[in-house]
Amino acid sequence: MIKLTIQKAFNEQIKKEFYSSYLYLAMSAYCEGNNYPGFAKWLKIQAKEEMSHGLKFFEFVFERGGKVELEAIAKPPVEYKSLLEMFKQVFKHEMEISASIHKIFELAHDKEKDYASFPILHEFIKEQIEEEKNASEIVEQLKVCGDSKVSLMLMDKGMGKRE
Ligand code: MG
Repeated sequence: MIKLTIQKAFNEQIKKEFYSSYLYLAMSAYCEGNNYPGFAKWLKIQAKEEMSHGLKFFEFVFERGGKVELEAIAKPPVEYKSLLEMFKQVFKHEMEISASIHKIFELAHDKEKDYASFPILHEFIKEQIEEEKNASEIVEQLKVCGDSKVSLMLMDKGMGKRE
């Protein structure tokens, strides 16, 4: 049986993963509207991945005999100054998600000694290393592109190759 403190932390995390999905879908819509179909595709795939993260936590709470309570999801930003500014926000957001998962791990490990939560938390601690790396690499590539429309178009083509 899952402890209420752990259940609450996982419910919060479900909301955060679904907000991530919503945020990246909003970014995808922005890219779609600004003629960056490759970035739009990349972000839409990312949005789906975030939804699957939320569902993993959702299913985990039930597996542990807990109760899922879905929280309200905030409206994500609609406008962005540039792709660079957008992906700086993606990177910042992913660092916040990492911190959030680390906090749940602290709670499960140090305070509650909830060993059953370790595997899923380890999985996500590892996942976040990848997410931060991807976002930071895109930020660096966008810095190299600068204001060059040709470079941005080429990068857009590359981003569109994500399956
Ligand atoms: Mg995630």
